[in-house]
Amino acid sequence: MEPKNNPNRFDELINAAPSASAIYHTRDIIITSANAQMLAFWGKDKSVIGKPLIEAVPELRGQPFITLLQNVFDTGITHHAEKDRAELKVDGKLQTSYFNYTYKPVLGTDGKTAYIFHTAIDVTTLIKTQQELSDTQERLSLALQAAEIGTWDLNPLSHAVHWDLRCRELFGFEGEADIAYHEVLDCIHPDDKPKVMEAVAAAINPLQTDTYDIRYRTVGNNSGKLRWVHCKGRSYFNDDGLAYRFAGTARDITNEVNTSLSQQQLLSLVSNNADIMTIADMKGNLIYMNRAGRELFGVPDDIDFTQLSARDFYEPEELQRVQETIIPQIDSEKGWKGILYLKHVQTHEAIPCQVNYILVKNPITGEIIGRGSTARDLRSELKARAELQRLATIVEFSEDFCNYTDWQGNTIYLNAAGQKLIGLSANEVAKTNIEAYHSLASNRLIKGSIRSQLLATGKWSGRLELMHQQTGEIIPIHKQFFLIRDGLTAEPIAITGIARNLTAEINAKKAMDKKNTEIANTLKELEFLANAVPTVVWTANPDGMIDFINQRWNDHSAIPIKASLGDKWTATIHPEDLDHTLKTWQKSVATGEPFQAEFRLKDKYGNYRWWLVRAVALTDSQGHISKWYGSNTDISEQKELQRQKDNFLGVASHELKTPVTSIKAYAQVVEMMLHRAGDEKNAALIAKMNNQINRLTALIGDLLDVTKITAGKLVFIHTHFNFDQLVSEIAEDIQLTTEKHHIELKLNSLRDINGDRERIRQVIVNLLTNAVKYSPDASQIIVFTEDHGHEVQFCVQDFGIGLTADKKDLIFEQFYRVIGSKERTFPGLGLGLYISSEIVKQLGGRIWVNSVAGEGATFCFAIPVNQVAQATENN
Ligand code: ADP
Repeated sequence: MEPKNNPNRFDELINAAPSASAIYHTRDIIITSANAQMLAFWGKDKSVIGKPLIEAVPELRGQPFITLLQNVFDTGITHHAEKDRAELKVDGKLQTSYFNYTYKPVLGTDGKTAYIFHTAIDVTTLIKTQQELSDTQERLSLALQAAEIGTWDLNPLSHAVHWDLRCRELFGFEGEADIAYHEVLDCIHPDDKPKVMEAVAAAINPLQTDTYDIRYRTVGNNSGKLRWVHCKGRSYFNDDGLAYRFAGTARDITNEVNTSLSQQQLLSLVSNNADIMTIADMKGNLIYMNRAGRELFGVPDDIDFTQLSARDFYEPEELQRVQETIIPQIDSEKGWKGILYLKHVQTHEAIPCQVNYILVKNPITGEIIGRGSTARDLRSELKARAELQRLATIVEFSEDFCNYTDWQGNTIYLNAAGQKLIGLSANEVAKTNIEAYHSLASNRLIKGSIRSQLLATGKWSGRLELMHQQTGEIIPIHKQFFLIRDGLTAEPIAITGIARNLTAEINAKKAMDKKNTEIANTLKELEFLANAVPTVVWTANPDGMIDFINQRWNDHSAIPIKASLGDKWTATIHPEDLDHTLKTWQKSVATGEPFQAEFRLKDKYGNYRWWLVRAVALTDSQGHISKWYGSNTDISEQKELQRQKDNFLGVASHELKTPVTSIKAYAQVVEMMLHRAGDEKNAALIAKMNNQINRLTALIGDLLDVTKITAGKLVFIHTHFNFDQLVSEIAEDIQLTTEKHHIELKLNSLRDINGDRERIRQVIVNLLTNAVKYSPDASQIIVFTEDHGHEVQFCVQDFGIGLTADKKDLIFEQFYRVIGSKERTFPGLGLGLYISSEIVKQLGGRIWVNSVAGEGATFCFAIPVNQVAQATENN
């Protein structure tokens, strides 16, 4: 090809070329030829042919193309550029275009560059599109970045994972290299890993069409930081149905999860709160009520509480108060706090509640949602408060000293009794410290050992002293301290105290001690006295056991005091007296009646001596025996004298009886002889003598009877006879002896009895004779008999001198006579009543007297109607 020879051939070539083409020659880059497309790039026509390029397209000045062309011309080396930018004028305006172009040298025969062949393709549109695409991608990535969304791309075939930066961050990876799928799995929380693997497997499985949408936790590869991520993605399948790409996004939802968690926690807090929480809409319909509310008001779980109205929770008056006063205050946004009486939905029990009402608004929009309330059941609180009130009242009115101070001892409270005890007025209480009203010694104790014990054990009790604030008097007390600690910090905060005034107690004890000493002294004195007296004295316990015997015992007894205590003394009783003595003593111990017995005790020489033992019981205010006091009198000599007297009486009366009987017989004969001789004067004298002999006989008879009685030899001969008849016979006889008295008979015995007629006569005669004898100034004597079925009773009433009460028993004793001015004038031995009572007793009967001194006496006896024993008088 020879362009020099045939330049038009280039034109044909260039015009036929598919892309824009031009040919230049010489180093000045003169346009040899250019096709229409090239001319269009330049915005020129054919007139530029033959001109240097720089002249034809002057905007190329300052751009590298001319220089590049000259380089190609000089070096003969092709220059190729892609997507190169050129500024060219189009329609008179400079515009940026991009070209892929080649400057190819065409060498001449001399081997030098003859022409440069320029081809260019306009790639402006491509470049622009590419730029737009990259802009879009950048925007997307920015958007993803802004949304903190990362992208990931897994090749299921190679198991390589491509992650963007965000994703790397979310999974805790550094660097930019692709990661293997198993490494990704290592970053997933172990608990979530199986679920992720399952979801991925499902997403890349062509047979399943699940979209991949999963929330799980990642644990940073290096950092170990826990995050929640939300991943979404899908798989792309090739013609063979194999997933070749699995891509999607990952979003950090840690905050969301945490927020919803805290919301859930908040909700559960509300629903499980011990306080009642409700929300009602502005119409008053319940929207929400927590569990505590349902429980308190008895709203069952299966009831839709929104169906309940305020009427169900309030009594009409309370509802009116809520609607008229409380709701307006809530709605005015001031809220309302106070006590309301709500009611149990089922039982209608009134429940006092501390209620707090507020207006509930949407925090973002400010829109009013409804009225919310929190409420607390006050029942137990009110009850506790009432109880506290009661306790406070008890403390306030307690007679004990009750106080309450802070830990430093500053008085917070002191009850009325306490104020009175230490002479403090109510308004002074708050100013005082515990130290002000205790004695110095007590203050030392409080500061020292009491405080340390309070800290260690929480309480202290013991003796302290208060000091009266006005008189300075020291008041002994028994004090109890209790430490009160702060419920939270356990710091000691207060001390409570209760004190009892011991003054009275101590005084009483002092008095008691004094009394005890006195008693002890008296007892000592008594013991001394007891030992000093010449008789034996002793004391016994209520059960009859002897616990004290004075020293005199040792002078007489066969066994010493110690060996005699209790019941051991009984060993010294004469065997004949033992039974009777013990029975009498036991009877007294059982009944408390005075004890009196005569019995023999062995003395230290082995002889038995007679003792008269008497004891009386000291009883307490309830009548219980507290002690027996006894005395033993030695009556051995008395007994001996009595024996001698009895002997003498026996012998004397017996010896007297025979001569007196003879004298009486002689006297009767003499009297008879004088009557016959007509010597009436001397006969009368003998008659008087006879009377005296009769009295003597009677006296001797009495003495003989006494002897028999003492010897236990009184014998009875029983016969069958009429009692009343006997009585009237005797009355007739006695009537003959007195002119002054009239003996009146009131006989009602009406039956025969068995008994010793003569002995019974003796008794009746005695009583009737006494009646006459001891009523010298009276004119009437009344005799009664009564039939009591198993016994007959005889009484004789006179209106004479009578007896004092203290003599009523004594007169039945041997030789006893009442000694008094009046009685002296009545002769007698004092044996009649003794013999009578012995006869009656031995007949199994009773004898007694009723009398008022100066007014007369009534002597009575009663005897069984059937006397059985038959015996002969052996004298
Ligand atoms: P005597 O009559 O011989 O003194 P008694 O044994 O018969 O002895 O009486 C004892 C005492 O009782 C009398 O001394 C007398 O003081 C008192 N006495 C007895 N009978 C009566 C009577 N009917 N009225 C008042 N005193 C009486």
